[in-house]
Amino acid sequence: MASIGPRVETLSLLASSPLSLIWLAALGLVVGSFLNVVIARLPAEQSIVRPRSRCPSCGHSIPWYENIPIFSFLALRGRCSACKKPISVRYPLVELLTATLFLACWRRFGWEYPLAPALLFASLLIALAFIDAEHWLLPLELTVPGMVVGLAMAAPMGLDRLWAASLGLSVGFLSFRLLEYVGWKAFRREALGAGDKFLFGLIGAFLTHRPLLVVLGLASLQGSLYGGVRMLLTGRAAPAPEDAGAGAAEPEPTMSWAFLAPGLSLFRRMALLPYSLLLQPIPDEPKDAEGEEVEWRPGKSNLPFGPWLALAGVEVLLFGPYLASKLSPLGLEWLFGGRD
Ligand SMILES: [Zn+2]
Repeated sequence: MASIGPRVETLSLLASSPLSLIWLAALGLVVGSFLNVVIARLPAEQSIVRPRSRCPSCGHSIPWYENIPIFSFLALRGRCSACKKPISVRYPLVELLTATLFLACWRRFGWEYPLAPALLFASLLIALAFIDAEHWLLPLELTVPGMVVGLAMAAPMGLDRLWAASLGLSVGFLSFRLLEYVGWKAFRREALGAGDKFLFGLIGAFLTHRPLLVVLGLASLQGSLYGGVRMLLTGRAAPAPEDAGAGAAEPEPTMSWAFLAPGLSLFRRMALLPYSLLLQPIPDEPKDAEGEEVEWRPGKSNLPFGPWLALAGVEVLLFGPYLASKLSPLGLEWLFGGRD
């Protein structure tokens, strides 16, 4: 495309784009509608394909014409047609957000191959952000396949990109794993949610290792600003999940490495070592005096980190080259992975 020159390129885009952009926005609405199903059902461990959508208040089975993105919400004035209870604004919000991000990705990449992984990346981040904000949970059913797909979709962009994506996946995952351990050593409590390392690895797979430091910086900055303001106004950095336990007294946290447990054979220890190093919860899952697992409840100053990582991922995806060009007089464009 570079040989055509920017003016001709712009003209041809204007000439060809209106219909294809309407199509892309409609695709965004439909994908957003599907993400709503994922957001509502995945944390509850329900199937995302069956049954048909139902009203969560009265169980009214929702026919297709009440399930058209945005339009049905407006036509029903945001209320269930059977019981008239309000429908969560999350539904039209996620649909609009997905369509908007799809168009923004097109603005960034045009009709070129990198648009495809960008659309998938944005969709995954929307689902994960909304689930984590409500349930303090980043389901492995989304993050692990997302990491694999992010890597696979880097392959058509060349060996260098594939290498950078694998590096991004590993650096993202392992750096957060190390932070979990360091946080435990320094503060004797859980520093990061167990799912955050998978999300950071996913972001690394899609964006490569290069901008990960900036993603972490933007996520921490925006998250702590929001949490700080909320804390001042409401006394809590983030609302606790509705499905959390009654909040019994939390036992003192402990950390015991599975591979160091007494009475194991050397072979068992060797077999447990990779699990301990990469996946074992840090600290141990809290248990009460009888050894029953205790539901973890977030403290007043805790905040789910997933939505902020997702926001920073989108910001770098869309504005990375722009921010890199602004920083290049300072010799800092490498922070965003340079120009691509
Ligand atoms: Zn209803």
